[in-house]
Amino acid sequence: MHSFHYDKGALHCEGVDLQALADQHGTPLYVYSQATILDHFRRLDQAMAGLDHLICYATKANSNLAVLNLLAREGAGFDIVSGGELQRVIRAGGDAGKCTFAGVGKTRAEIELALKAGIYSFNAESEAEVRHIDAVAGELGLKAPIALRVNPNVDAKTHKYISTGKSENKFGIDFSIIREAYARAAELPNIHIRGLQMHIGSQLTSSNPFVEAVEKVGPLADELKAAYGIEFFSIGGGIGIVYQDSLASGCHTWWEGREDGAKPLTIEEYAQRLVPLLQPLGLRILLEPGRYMVGNAGALLTRVLFEKRGSAKTFKIVDAGMNDLIRPALYQGHHEIAPLREPAPGVGAEKVDVVGPVCESGDFLAQDREIPPVGEGDAIAVLSAGAYGFVMASNYNSRPLPAEILVDGDKAHVIRRRQSFEDLIAGESIPG
Ligand SMILES: *Cc1c(COP(=O)(O)O)cnc(C)c1O
Repeated sequence: MHSFHYDKGALHCEGVDLQALADQHGTPLYVYSQATILDHFRRLDQAMAGLDHLICYATKANSNLAVLNLLAREGAGFDIVSGGELQRVIRAGGDAGKCTFAGVGKTRAEIELALKAGIYSFNAESEAEVRHIDAVAGELGLKAPIALRVNPNVDAKTHKYISTGKSENKFGIDFSIIREAYARAAELPNIHIRGLQMHIGSQLTSSNPFVEAVEKVGPLADELKAAYGIEFFSIGGGIGIVYQDSLASGCHTWWEGREDGAKPLTIEEYAQRLVPLLQPLGLRILLEPGRYMVGNAGALLTRVLFEKRGSAKTFKIVDAGMNDLIRPALYQGHHEIAPLREPAPGVGAEKVDVVGPVCESGDFLAQDREIPPVGEGDAIAVLSAGAYGFVMASNYNSRPLPAEILVDGDKAHVIRRRQSFEDLIAGESIPG
């Protein structure tokens, strides 16, 4: 589901007119749909109803306190990758006891914080890390619950920067040596072996790699249950979403009316294929979706500042740049662009580059893209920007971070105010 649609010629998020939001709060502006986030959480939760399961939302996809609070109230757990994310979850009313802590480089301070908060499990990515966690836990007189992250060497068939389950990636412990790693972890005095974890990559558009990975790792989970009494198996996140859409032609479902017939990986299909493989394990199954939960729930609103017609290309220069949304530059990410005023029927498209004001050639939101005509001062929506959007925004070029809005029906809540210049330089000082 996604809640961005035209109503009487004006692009809305749920019941809110986006032009009015852009006028009131300025651009660039992130806007999220609460209904979409809740719908996605509940659909996944229902699809997994046949399993003892816990959805640990991957906080890094969108860590605004309001988003975390929304999911905490639904009973979600959280997959965190830093001490900062753990503190956000706690501040947002989330339960540390439902948190798993992933990442290859946890520091002593982060491990202490997580142990004291009583997280559900550290998902450890190397034996050196397990020894470190053991030592810190010993100093605090605590036992550290851990899972090891196994790298199943499965090709997720996604962009190389977001593929994590192959032997050449830095993540996890090789499948070929994972049993020895568990045996050594079991000898450490302050370690409690609680589970097994894997995560093969992000933005997977087919369920096949998930099935392949579960078929490969499931028997290992069974063995570890018998040997160490593990209680959970986390199958990670990575559920892909649809970025290419024909919203402008009036489609209300992401994949309706697509000429190539491509369908997103639906949650129903994902569950139908995985639940029967997971059920016989008799373990608690953890899921760590990030993008699926929030990606289609968000849009970045930006305004056309100038048009520039070069000899080779036409540029629409907008007020959002790669510092606001880096996915196009970093992963060749595609985001659909929709004008806030619905184009009249029959109006032709124009092939343009939509670029930001940042002093980098990589600063573009779309290249060689056919979009309906938009002129100076017109606002446009960059769709499916709810995941890995604001969280990757930076102050590069001394550009203040955009504001964020959470829409609930016909109400729009400011969940982060736009940064001011004073915010931007807070903490800096001139010596002497
Ligand atoms: C990033 C990440 C996720 C979430 O990935 P999505 O593609 O956003 O679902 C889940 N688990 C781990 C360990 C991650 O690093």
